[in-house]
Amino acid sequence: MLGIQKKDGIFFVSTKSKKVYESISVIITSGAESKLINVPGEEEFSGKGVSYCSLCDGPIFKDKIVAVVGGGNNGFESALFLSNYVKKIFILEFSDKVKADQENQDLVFKNKNIEVITNAKVVKIEGKVFVNSITYEDLKNNKEITLEVNGVFVEIGYTPSTLFVGDLVDLNEKGEIVFDPENLKTKTPGLFSAGDCNVSKYKQIVMASGEGAKAALSAYEYIKRNK
Ligand SMILES: Cc1cc2nc3c(=O)[nH]c(=O)nc-3n(C[C@H](O)[C@H](O)[C@H](O)COP(=O)(O)OP(=O)(O)OC[C@H]3O[C@@H](n4cnc5c(N)ncnc54)[C@H](O)[C@@H]3O)c2cc1C
Repeated sequence: MLGIQKKDGIFFVSTKSKKVYESISVIITSGAESKLINVPGEEEFSGKGVSYCSLCDGPIFKDKIVAVVGGGNNGFESALFLSNYVKKIFILEFSDKVKADQENQDLVFKNKNIEVITNAKVVKIEGKVFVNSITYEDLKNNKEITLEVNGVFVEIGYTPSTLFVGDLVDLNEKGEIVFDPENLKTKTPGLFSAGDCNVSKYKQIVMASGEGAKAALSAYEYIKRNK
């Protein structure tokens, strides 16, 4: 889908194949893309120790050592969740200060299994079949340091795939679609949105599926009244 417009109660959805589809109602379910750190080894070991979802993959790393890349709320909350399973966590933050809120900082700094390293620019991820290590540049001393880890959780945020919807929806500061949780309506009548593209703290399959079902029922009601 490249773009969407509404004229006289009808949506016109344009696609890459140059076809334009007409519809009384549309449900947006375009998801979100995790932000990458773009270092050697990230792609190669994705799914082999490199993960973008601590809630999903955390338990697989029971009693292992992991690095969490990103010292914002995402990274700190992931590390706290992972600390229920793994034996040691390094949080690597690029800047000289962490950006997580105070409550998360208090919880992390009193957790003996979590070590926070600032001024750490990730350089590469290495391994054989699975991840064995992560190397970062210590930006204060211009030194490369390698940590032996079994997993790397990249927690530097995500980009919702929502720009193609234009001004038919309101977006929050992250680019997520603002919607009514009761019926999945957006600000445009007949346009619904569900899943990871929506404003929501938790991005999980069960929630996306539930929202998808609600949006379908709402679209059905809308079509019944407007056809
Ligand atoms: C590595 C990883 C592991 C995960 N593991 C789990 C897990 O174990 N359990 C769990 O509950 N959740 C897991 N999640 C989260 C889960 O995948 C998402 O919450 C869920 O897939 C969201 O569903 P969705 O339909 O909203 O979006 P998506 O599944 O992201 O689907 C969106 C689709 O829309 C397509 N799209 C985007 N833009 C356009 C466009 N303009 N036109 C047409 N199509 C478009 C995309 O290509 C994609 O196919 C994981 C996520 C990641 C990244």
